[in-house]
Amino acid sequence: MNAPHLDDEDVPAVTYDLNDDSVVVIIGSGAGGGTMADELTRRGIDVVLLEAGPRFKTSDFVNDEWAMYDLLTWKDERACTGGSPIARDYPTAPTWTCKGLGGTTLHWAAMCPRPDPYEFKVRSIYGDVEGAALEDWPVDHEEMEPFYREAESKMGVTGRHGIPHHRGNNSCRVMALGAKRMGYRDYGPNNVAINAVPRDGRNACDQIGFCMQGCRSGGKWSTFVSELPRAEATGRCEIRTRCMALRIEHDERGRVSGVLYADASGRHHLQKARVVCVAANSIETARLLLNSESSAWPDGLANGSGAVGRHYMRHVTAYMYGEFPRPVRIYRGMVVSGIIRDEARHDPARGFAGGFYMGSMGLGLPFFAAFMSPGRWGRDYASWIEAFERVGGLFVNGEDMPMASNRVTLHPGERDQYGLPIACLNLDDHPNDLAMKRHSYRCGIAILEAAGALRIFCSPPLPVSHNLGTCRMSADPDAGVVDRWGRSHEIPNLFVSDGSQFTSSLAGNPTLTIVTLAIRQAGHIARLMGRGEI
Ligand SMILES: Cc1cc2nc3c(=O)[nH]c(=O)nc-3n(C[C@H](O)[C@H](O)[C@H](O)COP(=O)(O)OP(=O)(O)OC[C@H]3O[C@@H](n4cnc5c(N)ncnc54)[C@H](O)[C@@H]3O)c2cc1C
Ligand code: SF4
Repeated sequence: MNAPHLDDEDVPAVTYDLNDDSVVVIIGSGAGGGTMADELTRRGIDVVLLEAGPRFKTSDFVNDEWAMYDLLTWKDERACTGGSPIARDYPTAPTWTCKGLGGTTLHWAAMCPRPDPYEFKVRSIYGDVEGAALEDWPVDHEEMEPFYREAESKMGVTGRHGIPHHRGNNSCRVMALGAKRMGYRDYGPNNVAINAVPRDGRNACDQIGFCMQGCRSGGKWSTFVSELPRAEATGRCEIRTRCMALRIEHDERGRVSGVLYADASGRHHLQKARVVCVAANSIETARLLLNSESSAWPDGLANGSGAVGRHYMRHVTAYMYGEFPRPVRIYRGMVVSGIIRDEARHDPARGFAGGFYMGSMGLGLPFFAAFMSPGRWGRDYASWIEAFERVGGLFVNGEDMPMASNRVTLHPGERDQYGLPIACLNLDDHPNDLAMKRHSYRCGIAILEAAGALRIFCSPPLPVSHNLGTCRMSADPDAGVVDRWGRSHEIPNLFVSDGSQFTSSLAGNPTLTIVTLAIRQAGHIARLMGRGEI
């Protein structure tokens, strides 16, 4: 089977006039935007999708970590302030997202844990956590459940709905040995959106590794290989790549009316719209709304509550490596092959609210050398590089607390290539995040030791790859930006369709939930359009 791909010559030509105000304009083509394009077009709705990055070819993907980092990553400067080590280590690149058709699903590792029901009601269950701005999601797990099932099936998540698991690579086996010896019970092969057998027009994974470099075989789910080709094939989706949305316009009735964007040559165009869905990943989604201020919306579009940009979340993360007596070879096979779920629960007896997952770490030598301790050098550092063949690793992904002061604002001085203020991210760690991190280090170190590690090294956090919550869902319009459908509390035809909607971060990786919310939102938009309400 050939890998599905989206090379330029295959793209069906469909074009919409700039003055066509019957179209839904989607901004961004990643997990949220790509899914919206598929879900709306299959319901017969016409879509213009604006994507800031280029359209890659599958043959552009090579098994070289830095080459692909350079090709895929969103490298426009962002600023970072605050007490988090990320502000210290990555002051101009605090986040790790992609710029290209498919968005960060080109880069992602495809791990898809399903949240527990309690995770949607954190304010009610955790109570007051000092310094945290917790809210319950205005939707519960029961309502989300059928959409999760649809998303898991769409993405081909292993271990769900009869979709076979992968066997687990060496890195997973080392993790499982440590977990077993520690008395953990709920561990094993990860639930990933990576085919173990050919499915849904995609190949089976060939376990070469490099999942975060753009999967060349098509074994890994991305909107680049799945949703976007499907949307284009309907003849109802025009994708404009290298087109950067600069601001969203509104009319005198307070409804959004179009999107101003710059094309590859820098020329500006205004695409009229019936509905606008913003799915530019949480930093750019918030920046775009803030940059779309007007006399009617002096603090940013849809920002009557002042919540646009606030309550940014990025998960508690931790990375630990152990040197083992025999080779582990963490660079072979899928990046996140194994998972331990035992700590993903709310148990205040551990000294913090919320839970976390631990997983086996896969990494090549270039990233290992760069990220294990930025700026570090000397004999000890070199000895870890020499030991790389025998290194095994664990990562942690846990719920972090939303804080009003962790937020995206517009930089007062710095401008991007379009003359727009760059995003400035303030990032502090909540005491609950730090308590969870300390506990997770204790657990991870014990697991690696139980598996036979001779020595252990703990790494500082990487640039943030899970950006969440800058336009959060809330029942109370004063507490957030969008309602239970991701629709602006204030503007009826403006939707937020990415991880910015998250009310809380949930313990696990976010993309399954982003896709789930997009499927649910698309159905709602279709109903509202059908009734002529938008
Ligand atoms: C290395 C790495 C590993 C990851 N692994 C996992 C994992 O295992 N599991 C998991 O759940 N998640 C993982 N993630 C996170 C996952 O990729 C994101 O959660 C997901 O892609 C976010 O979807 P999105 O639609 O919000 O944004 P994106 O997928 O980032 O898409 C946003 C798109 O919008 C475009 N855009 C931005 N601004 C504009 C504008 N103004 N105009 C036009 N276009 C614009 C961007 O170019 C981009 O293509 C990982 C991320 C990274 C970086
Ligand atoms: S290991 Fe599998 S999912 Fe990862 S890049 Fe290779 S084929 Fe794709």
